[in-house]
Amino acid sequence: MKGAKDVSKVREEIKRIALENAIKHDGKAQAKPVLGRLLGKNPNLRGKIREISSLVNEVIREINSLTLKQQIEIVQNLWPEMLLKEKEKIEEKKKLPPLPNVEKYKQIVTRFAPNPDCVLHIGSARAIILSHEYARMYNGRFILRFEDTDPRIKKTALEFYDLIREDLKWLGCTWDAEYIQSDRMEIYYKYAEELLEKGHAYVCICRREDFKEKVQRKEPCPCRDIPPKENISRWKDMLSGKYDEGKAVVRIKTDLNHPNPAIRDWPAFRIIDTKKHPHPRTGSRYRVWPLFAFANGIDDHLNGITHIIRGKEHLTNQRRQEFLYQYLGWKYPEAIHYGRLKITGVTLSKSKIVRAVEEGVYSGWDDPRLATFRALKRRGIMPEAIRQMMIDVGPRPADITLSWKNLYAYNRKILDPIANRYFFLEEPKRMIVNEVKRDFTVSMRLHPDDPKRGKRIFAVKNRDGQAYLLISSRDFNHLKAGSLVRLMELFNVKILSKNEDTISAEFHSEDYEEARRLNLALIHWLPAGEGIPCKVIMPDGSVVKGLAEKNLLQASVDQVVQFERFGFVRIDQMKEEVQTFFTHE
Ligand SMILES: [Zn+2]
Repeated sequence: MKGAKDVSKVREEIKRIALENAIKHDGKAQAKPVLGRLLGKNPNLRGKIREISSLVNEVIREINSLTLKQQIEIVQNLWPEMLLKEKEKIEEKKKLPPLPNVEKYKQIVTRFAPNPDCVLHIGSARAIILSHEYARMYNGRFILRFEDTDPRIKKTALEFYDLIREDLKWLGCTWDAEYIQSDRMEIYYKYAEELLEKGHAYVCICRREDFKEKVQRKEPCPCRDIPPKENISRWKDMLSGKYDEGKAVVRIKTDLNHPNPAIRDWPAFRIIDTKKHPHPRTGSRYRVWPLFAFANGIDDHLNGITHIIRGKEHLTNQRRQEFLYQYLGWKYPEAIHYGRLKITGVTLSKSKIVRAVEEGVYSGWDDPRLATFRALKRRGIMPEAIRQMMIDVGPRPADITLSWKNLYAYNRKILDPIANRYFFLEEPKRMIVNEVKRDFTVSMRLHPDDPKRGKRIFAVKNRDGQAYLLISSRDFNHLKAGSLVRLMELFNVKILSKNEDTISAEFHSEDYEEARRLNLALIHWLPAGEGIPCKVIMPDGSVVKGLAEKNLLQASVDQVVQFERFGFVRIDQMKEEVQTFFTHE
């Protein structure tokens, strides 16, 4: 770089690339790809790599200190074509990789098998969406199976069956058949008896610690070799109530030398005192309950599941279930195990969620602090955003970490073209503009890219040379006497003085070009007396109060709109005051 002129040219180019990168990554540009793009386009700069790198870092620091909204505003002004290009790219939707061995099956059948012990949350999204999407992709069937055979620890509750059905419908994942495991107890019993009779399973009445000690040493417990006849009689005693809770379990014979102790003679049935812990659907009718690996394994076969798509934490269960399948002469379905998906800043422990809702820590299943589908819905997150994100993540085996920001980026792409724009002033303060020579009528589009949706009209009256306006307290706090600012689509003003709740300003000029030349900040405003009370419930549960423009009354409940320079919100209620939930910036 020879002269100052070259430096400023390169700087401009870095700024453009960095903004593009920042907008793609939710407001944070990354140095490496920016530098890479720059050098790719300008190979002559490679010799100056050190100077260029520090210039890149400097520009990125600047860009990253802006909000995403500000970044988009800059691009809209300087390089509007860049945003069009971004929009086109979004159109190319990603597809899932093919499933293995599809040709071996007449029809692909997948399933989602929740325990109805809580509403569904984002942690289940991957299993649901991938299973549903694959069934759709192959014109197959998607099955919903409630795995409700634990009345004691992961306690099923009646309300969750319907809530889960509603959650799935909201996600757009409708199912072709539904099973409830607590309806199928006799089926599990029948297979238990078959396995006991054939000597593939036994009733173990050892103390749990004694069994554990033996199995750790790869030794059989005394129950392992009792004859089938005696096993059947012990089994009948389990069913009739001769054994108390915890006193007998049915174990599947496996390989006592298996390297993983969890697989050695795993438990398939246990006794639960349903007088004390009644099942919400069957009460105390059954006291012998299948454990997850057993009921789940039996049903996957009986439901005709061809492809199981689940997390790799289920690999141990597959190893257990393979013994079962071998004894029953069944073929194990194709199983696709994806890596762990960590979502930062999200409480996904179902028992914690249930407890906190019961204790009133959260206002309900749709409390905005939760990551339940109900909460996401209430906040204005679109099911399509969740679906797209999960399809992009796909069934890859590597672990992956996502954050709220990733989900917001998907959602923003969906909302941006549909959400109408409105002004909302948080904790508004007054601005009195002097030297106003006439009345002003300002009209702004409901959506900047779609004139057909109509306009919002604001009338600013000249009252003896003064105009009375309101601005948000955030802008109010930033403005200093002597500075210039543009009131969006209205005019440019100079700040004269400021007291606790009023700014006194003076008309400076009208042209937008003038504001651009002077590099003025753009702020939103309302004519005094024209706002309607509106509150925004934030994702942390806090409430922001303010005034929204009266045009908002034409919107409807459930609609997601954008409060300019504030963020997207979903309209929740429209009564004497408008109540909204904050979606994201
Ligand atoms: Zn035993």
